[in-house]
Amino acid sequence: MAERYYYSIASGSTGNCGLYVAGGAAILIDLGVSLRKITAALTAVGLGLDDLSAVLLTHEHIDHVKGLPMFLKKAGAPVFASRGTAEALAQKEPLCRDRLNVFESGEAFWVRDVDVETFETPHDAADSVGYILSHGESRFGFATDLGFVPRDVADRLRGCGTVVLESNHDPHMLQAGPYPYPLKMRVAGPAGHLSNPDCAAFAADLVKNGTRTLILAHLSEKNNIPELAFQQTRAALRGLPACAVHIAPRERMEEPVLFGEEEACSLSG
Ligand SMILES: [Zn+2]
Ligand SMILES: [Zn+2]
Repeated sequence: MAERYYYSIASGSTGNCGLYVAGGAAILIDLGVSLRKITAALTAVGLGLDDLSAVLLTHEHIDHVKGLPMFLKKAGAPVFASRGTAEALAQKEPLCRDRLNVFESGEAFWVRDVDVETFETPHDAADSVGYILSHGESRFGFATDLGFVPRDVADRLRGCGTVVLESNHDPHMLQAGPYPYPLKMRVAGPAGHLSNPDCAAFAADLVKNGTRTLILAHLSEKNNIPELAFQQTRAALRGLPACAVHIAPRERMEEPVLFGEEEACSLSG
């Protein structure tokens, strides 16, 4: 495990799970798909459940914790959650009561040689968070499920070489799409999800501040098209230093995204 990479296992409204590997640690972020899918994806990169160093949960919505009960039964890796997330989960799943490692949002800790910073995200969950994972000089930021990018979140993500950022919906598709009106309001609101234009604008800010690999994530199945999300962010990056832009597909990525790769911008799954 000398290499450093991020491997998206599932992304979008039906399930979210990603694997971060660096510094001898293998860390899953969220468990929003079945344990079977997670195990199959780990096998594809030569890992098993026993190789996992930790799991970091962002919040208690089902698309982020669907595989949690089975994971707690079958796997031994410690699972970290913010206090509010852990309390919300314990109400539904008794196994969570003593199996979760609880932190306060904003607190930092470490997993092997990886430093973990946590930060609050604006989302309609009990106590949702994003993460910065650092190993040596390499900083990796993770922010999905946020209605907007607050200043303190922006400050933390700036300077991360690699960022997984939500590009949830196209505002016109959302408006014209099949969601009932209250749900449209929720998704577009300040405690909902980041739109393609908001993602693109912040992506430009990140690239000006050193980000060289972007992974657009949590794309809506009904209110977005991968090419649209990709083109919107690429257009915002025109004239800026080179940055690889990847889309996290609904199912697992074909190949992990290696950190620090200076590759030409291209659409890849
Ligand atoms: Zn959510
Ligand atoms: Zn979500």
